[in-house]
Amino acid sequence: MTAKVYINGKFFAPEEAMVSVFDHGLLYGDGVFEGLRIYNGKIFRLEQHVRRLYDSAKAICLAIPMSPVEMTAALEETVEKSGLTDGYIRAVVTRGAGTLGLGPERTENPQTIIIVDKIKLYPQEFYDNGLEIITASTIRNHPGALSPRIKSLNYLNNIMAKIEATKAGCLEALMLNHKGEVSECTADNIFIVRDGKLLTPPTDAGILEGVTRDVVLELATKAGIPNFEKTLTRHDVYVADECFMTGTAAEVIGVVKVDDRVIGDGKPGPITQKLKELFVRHTMG
Ligand code: PMP
Repeated sequence: MTAKVYINGKFFAPEEAMVSVFDHGLLYGDGVFEGLRIYNGKIFRLEQHVRRLYDSAKAICLAIPMSPVEMTAALEETVEKSGLTDGYIRAVVTRGAGTLGLGPERTENPQTIIIVDKIKLYPQEFYDNGLEIITASTIRNHPGALSPRIKSLNYLNNIMAKIEATKAGCLEALMLNHKGEVSECTADNIFIVRDGKLLTPPTDAGILEGVTRDVVLELATKAGIPNFEKTLTRHDVYVADECFMTGTAAEVIGVVKVDDRVIGDGKPGPITQKLKELFVRHTMG
């Protein structure tokens, strides 16, 4: 049970897995990726992740050199070779190695990389007690510049906000869009609860359409919790009864303080707890 790396059809131990320094993924952030989870030996929402990977690639005119069915098989085989039954998968497709210069036509072979490893994003105490976050002054990428719907290798926008969070002593940051509306966090989608209603910003707010976000909305509907995609302001977050974030790596985690404003009674609220439980049960099949 060790981390395993797949590169273009071959399997490597982590320390032997190498890519070219001329890869445009490294030189320019030219490529796309996905983060997936393995629960009980099964890849969670595999089809949805593969679809998003191909959608991201299409948006940047990157032809992934294998079909979605072949990608699915490669992901499953890498998991099998790792021996891990619970863990994280990073699937990356870069533009490939080429000559210096931005143009994708300078590259020839897109590189497909799959990393399977263990993951524990936050210490357990944050799942029990919730997280404190700040609003970053860095705004989320304008959809007309680089759509947040594309899960590209260019994560500097998010990293700039993450740096602000770290400097403020927080683990995550809320990001607003160019209109000043709430978009998402640096690596997670955001939800609030107000008067029993579950609210999350719509795609138009400039977000990555999170797989976990979808799962949570489905679970809420099944549990009879009214849920809506709605444009939110920072004020809505401050005065929310509950707040939580969702992501493949983070799963469902409560937020109890935003910019020094205590959310609700300062503990993960009942709807957050309920959805967290339903999510855990759902991932266990
Ligand atoms: N937003 C951003 C910017 C992300 O990077 C991620 C993925 N970590 C998410 C939201 C959550 O998406 P998912 O639930 O599909 O992991």
